[in-house]
Amino acid sequence: MKATVLGAGFAGCLVTYLLKQMGIQVSLVERAPRDDQRTHMTPGIPQSAHVHVLLSKGLHRLQHTYADFKTFLDQHHVPEFDWGAETHWYSGVYKAPSYPSGIRTRCFSRPLLDRFMWQQARACATEYLHDEGTIHWPGTGQPAQVHLKTRGTLKTDIVVDCRGRNSQLPSLSIRTEKQRTSVNYRTRVLIRETDTPATTQFYQQPAPPHHPYGALYGPIEDGKSILTTIGIGNNPGKQPLTTLLSRMEAAEISQVQRILPTSSATHKFCHAQNVWFHFGRNRRWPSNLFVLGDAACRFNPAYGQGMTVASEGAFLLQQCLREGRSTRWFQRQLDRCIYIPWQLSSESRLIHWLRGRMLATAFRQPQPYQDFLRVLHFFDPQALRRLVGQSLLLF
Ligand SMILES: Cc1cc2nc3c(=O)[nH]c(=O)nc-3n(C[C@H](O)[C@H](O)[C@H](O)COP(=O)(O)OP(=O)(O)OC[C@H]3O[C@@H](n4cnc5c(N)ncnc54)[C@H](O)[C@@H]3O)c2cc1C
Repeated sequence: MKATVLGAGFAGCLVTYLLKQMGIQVSLVERAPRDDQRTHMTPGIPQSAHVHVLLSKGLHRLQHTYADFKTFLDQHHVPEFDWGAETHWYSGVYKAPSYPSGIRTRCFSRPLLDRFMWQQARACATEYLHDEGTIHWPGTGQPAQVHLKTRGTLKTDIVVDCRGRNSQLPSLSIRTEKQRTSVNYRTRVLIRETDTPATTQFYQQPAPPHHPYGALYGPIEDGKSILTTIGIGNNPGKQPLTTLLSRMEAAEISQVQRILPTSSATHKFCHAQNVWFHFGRNRRWPSNLFVLGDAACRFNPAYGQGMTVASEGAFLLQQCLREGRSTRWFQRQLDRCIYIPWQLSSESRLIHWLRGRMLATAFRQPQPYQDFLRVLHFFDPQALRRLVGQSLLLF
């Protein structure tokens, strides 16, 4: 069997590796030139300059997939955190309880992760094509085809679309849900001083009207830290980062920029729209096409779910092929997996109101907070119901 994977971002690299493990020949197509020396951004992935948290389930997935992932992280002195004890999370009004939760993650920059995954995918892909791919579907009963800009049509048995936010398949979607998420990101990489503790990260979420800005600061690999401010609205404005930070409730964040020198320019990202294509609803879905990662659903990044959902999709694809299931089964299962993360980051008024109550409850007491962390990190999505129930009763 021969597979063509379009896009060598997070999803494309992981899928390539998993398919190769199953003995499938993979052609990996990537349109951006890859340069392993870039440290602040991955070419082709503009959001990679910004803070990226790989949630605990996603980290578990990668550690089980790549035997030398842990060694790679250790070599780069990547810090590890307990989300209960060592993450200081402010909602703008409440501060999350602090106690060991057992939910641990390691914090590294997206370019470091991309470099590792790219090297693994590159080493195992049967062929790598530096080209731009598009997908065509002649119609019901026909397989989807891949056209490459410089090489023409590619012969392949299955097509995996991992082109991220650049994927264009609206004609295959029966129902597309869009929410205009008005947040903007500004990020800088900082050099950590040796006496600054590496085992703490701080997070303050924007919570209008109390705080129009949030921020995230955390130590990452090789003695660096990353600082991101998150603003409401699509225009990040011209205010210096220091002015924004000085308004933060969390003193740890407001002081950080003052004490650490900068090692990168300030990168901006706006218009992070929520889009879910619900491909699982299409009964006439092409028999050889799999769509996953941001190509299937793009989340408001506030809860850092995109890469973990993409990794769930990659493992679902492996399961689908192992069990001889259809591509439609795959897209339906993927939609189920997207449902709870989508609700968490949804902008609908009702969900926004419910989420506010839920966070207020979770941030006041350890047990609801533990439930919240288990939902957020994909360990127990069903705990969300319990949490919403508690927040409606207790509030
Ligand atoms: C500001 C911001 C912050 C975020 N923070 C987090 C976070 O903290 N945690 C988290 O888990 N997620 C986060 N995300 C989401 C995360 O970036 C995505 O979910 C993740 O990158 C999706 O992986 P992907 O492989 O689908 O797409 P990408 O990683 O974007 O990769 C797509 C690849 O496809 C290539 N490509 C595009 N078009 C073509 C084509 N026609 N032919 C060939 N190749 C093509 C691109 O060059 C790129 O390499 C954030 C997103 C944003 C915008």
